[in-house]
Amino acid sequence: MTTGLVFDIKEFAVHDGPGIRTTVFLKGCPLNCAWCHSPEGKDRAPQIMHTLRGDRTVGKAYTPEALAAYLNSQIPILTANEGGVTFSGGEPLMQAAFIHATLDRLDPVHVLLDTSGFADGPVFAQLVRRFDLVYFDLKLMDPVTHLAHTGVSNAPILDNLRRLSASRVPFVIRVPLVPTITDTNENLSAIARYLHGLPGLVRVDLLPYNPLAGAKYPMLGMAYPLHELEHRSVTLQPEIFSDKGIQVQCH
Ligand code: SF4
Repeated sequence: MTTGLVFDIKEFAVHDGPGIRTTVFLKGCPLNCAWCHSPEGKDRAPQIMHTLRGDRTVGKAYTPEALAAYLNSQIPILTANEGGVTFSGGEPLMQAAFIHATLDRLDPVHVLLDTSGFADGPVFAQLVRRFDLVYFDLKLMDPVTHLAHTGVSNAPILDNLRRLSASRVPFVIRVPLVPTITDTNENLSAIARYLHGLPGLVRVDLLPYNPLAGAKYPMLGMAYPLHELEHRSVTLQPEIFSDKGIQVQCH
């Protein structure tokens, strides 16, 4: 049986898509972004988190039946509030079979996939077409810098963005603004050039770096690599996108 590993379920979420939503965070991510504020989502295996309230296990196994039953019980209130269900992570595409099986059992509801875009092309294409909306992260356009800061090539991500655009599923591009790394004029301009005229693009969301991103790392026995950025402010530059006719939101 396909089981999934979930590290959190957030109810009444208002920043994970339209309306009021329930967001399922799936454990495991093939990227290792230096600025990640959910380090408990990186490892595919359950982990012990040492918190002030004591130790707790991060990562709970669900069958598709159990997760769908849990979500189905909330769908009337989500739908009444023009919301739905969001699958996030970690990287949800690492558990694509589990998501397919959960969607098979879900009552009709708006569903959103929040992804880094890093996955095998066929796996990506088959999953995204089952969603009403996709949130797709774009971090760095330069391949060398992308590899240095995330641990992976951006080539499959850009390939999947083209697949997404061809799929006719609408998508929002999410750009994490990390001081001196992703928020440079050069990087944002390269992203804007790449997106210009891309079918299916709804808007670009600029997401300023979370200065508390390093807080959970010690609880997992991990070292946070970007402490020197905690007091740096980000450069927004929404005009780089709006000048090209791309709708942009700053969060
Ligand atoms: S893609 Fe997202 S979840 Fe994965 S390491 Fe990067 S910031 Fe964290």
